[in-house]
Amino acid sequence: MAQDSEHFRDSIGTINEEGKRAWVFPKKPSGRYYDYRKYVSYFLLAFLFAGPFIKINGNQFLMFNVLERRFNIFGFPFWPQDFHLFVISMIIGVIFIALFTVAFGRIFCGWMCPQTIFMEMVFRRIEYWIEGDRGAQIKLGRQTWNAEKIRKRTLKWSIFFVISFLIANVFLAYLIGSDRLIRYITDGPLLHLSTLISLLVFTAVFYFIFAWFREQVCIIACPYGRMQGVLLDNKSIIVAYDHKRGEAENGRKKWRKNEDRKALGHGDCIDCFQCVNVCPTGIDIRNGTQLECVNCTACIDECDTIMEKVNLPKGLIRYASEAEIVKKEKFKFTPRLKGYTAVLTILIGVLAGMLFLRNDLEANILRLPGQLYEHKEGNIISNVYTYKLVNKTTKGVENVNFKLLSHKGKIKLVRNENFEVPAQDLAEGTLFIEIDNAAVKSDKEKIKVGIYSGNTLIETTMTAFMAPRSYR
Ligand code: SF4
Ligand code: SF4
Repeated sequence: MAQDSEHFRDSIGTINEEGKRAWVFPKKPSGRYYDYRKYVSYFLLAFLFAGPFIKINGNQFLMFNVLERRFNIFGFPFWPQDFHLFVISMIIGVIFIALFTVAFGRIFCGWMCPQTIFMEMVFRRIEYWIEGDRGAQIKLGRQTWNAEKIRKRTLKWSIFFVISFLIANVFLAYLIGSDRLIRYITDGPLLHLSTLISLLVFTAVFYFIFAWFREQVCIIACPYGRMQGVLLDNKSIIVAYDHKRGEAENGRKKWRKNEDRKALGHGDCIDCFQCVNVCPTGIDIRNGTQLECVNCTACIDECDTIMEKVNLPKGLIRYASEAEIVKKEKFKFTPRLKGYTAVLTILIGVLAGMLFLRNDLEANILRLPGQLYEHKEGNIISNVYTYKLVNKTTKGVENVNFKLLSHKGKIKLVRNENFEVPAQDLAEGTLFIEIDNAAVKSDKEKIKVGIYSGNTLIETTMTAFMAPRSYR
């Protein structure tokens, strides 16, 4: 690599020498990749905004209710009892992203991350629309607070606030569920003051991030960005500057018409700084892989435009691995990639199996702590239990009753015979199980209980039955 200085490694491009924020004014990107990214962003924004409002079998398509530990992923409801499934899904997500990072660098950051999508494809584009391109923004930033600056900044900040408020509402719909959010809105926000306050706090956070904090999220706050150093290797495909071609023997050099650069030993980089000007994190890609790079591809488009103008081949900055640039090595399915793929496949198999075996109604019958047994008339032993039935479906389960399947005996509910477990809710209570002691073979017998809806068996569960030793 032919950069003159290694200074970029011990400093951040967005913080100046006095330790203050150096504001980045990136040039408006344009080109092939930017167009593709726009289409991807339209799809993802529609998906993100629609996610909490789409229903599958009555279940919200995506919901992350961390407060009540209830999650819906692609319409699959996960209850607190399914927390292990939720954890496995999250692990699969992390491995999936890690696998992609090893193979394709931070492709997720540039193309799919909500932070990048909102920042570059929503807020930044509004900024270009109101304040103009890089040069106009720098000028506006420097000029005194005259009528033009007040008008432009007020308009921009007002729109930013409205969008932040919209995002906060959608965020809340993911957290508490869209039905509840709509109900709160129609009830009148003042009746749900704590939710209104949360909404305003979220709005303030989003406004702060998109109006001020911006690329600092990727550079300083995002843990995924920090992981890049351990995930990438020289075979990972990333947005890379072809330093072999760009620098050649005698380094980069400004463009001069009719000059034979090859004969002079200069590379194809004409040192125009357009790749730096367009970068939303304010770095120079020619310094090599850097943690700040979110692989947004803006510099690829910009350099391609320049190469076209000076009649040199495109792709001086492109998607490439260090191995491809230095040794012309093509993409290989490395042992590390194979390992990640194997772990991913196994975990997906385990999750699919667990989802397949999961019941719609989860039953738990446990002996009441501290209680032994009661000896009743006719050599009958009675044990007392608490039961908990969780209905994970969107339909109520009616006419619920219990039957003893493993032994002859009776189950008596303390109250509510033939009750209902409402949709996405639970029912709990107390019941007695009575068994003729002659049929009990051990002092802690395993017994099987069937849970019925009318005459239809919907679930079975095992529990323990205590009986006196001396009676056998
Ligand atoms: S845009 Fe291309 S030619 Fe211009 S400085 Fe960057 S790498 Fe060099
Ligand atoms: S270096 Fe290029 S790909 Fe990386 S963030 Fe800057 S413009 Fe985007």
